[in-house]
Amino acid sequence: MQDTRPLLLESDFPAMRRLGVDTLQANLGYRCNQSCAHCHVNAGPSRTEMMDRDTVDLLLDVAEALEKIFPSPDPPAFPGFGHGKGR
Ligand code: SF4
Repeated sequence: MQDTRPLLLESDFPAMRRLGVDTLQANLGYRCNQSCAHCHVNAGPSRTEMMDRDTVDLLLDVAEALEKIFPSPDPPAFPGFGHGKGR
């Protein structure tokens, strides 16, 4: 993984302001069908770490409140996700 912090410290990129949360992007674990060089979580097919069921249920509660969810890494790598709570 590349260290991008030095690139951000010396930048003329305009300052950002925090607004309300209306989108939830979830990293469900490190297992993924891909192994992209630019991956921000170093995911790949050999990784085994995954979010536990209780945390997934909490995530689904938040996603339901926001009405938006974009699972990451690749959703097919997580059997049971997207089929509702408690399954
Ligand atoms: S999570 Fe995204 S960036 Fe990372 S390896 Fe999978 S497809 Fe690539």
